[in-house]
Amino acid sequence: MIDSKLLEILACPECREDVEYDAKNEKLICTGCGLKYPVKNGIPVMIVEEAEKSDLNIK
Ligand SMILES: [Zn+2]
Repeated sequence: MIDSKLLEILACPECREDVEYDAKNEKLICTGCGLKYPVKNGIPVMIVEEAEKSDLNIK
């Protein structure tokens, strides 16, 4: 589980938008560009190279 305060300060390194936590898939999803960042051992990996691209329109 990701701490909500941590989530608040996290931002997508690609576009600087906020990220949302997808608890089911343990991913952080950018609300701006839709990149999906992995969470490893409870620690968000905010690295563009590690992120998955998403076809979904978040907004
Ligand atoms: Zn982004």
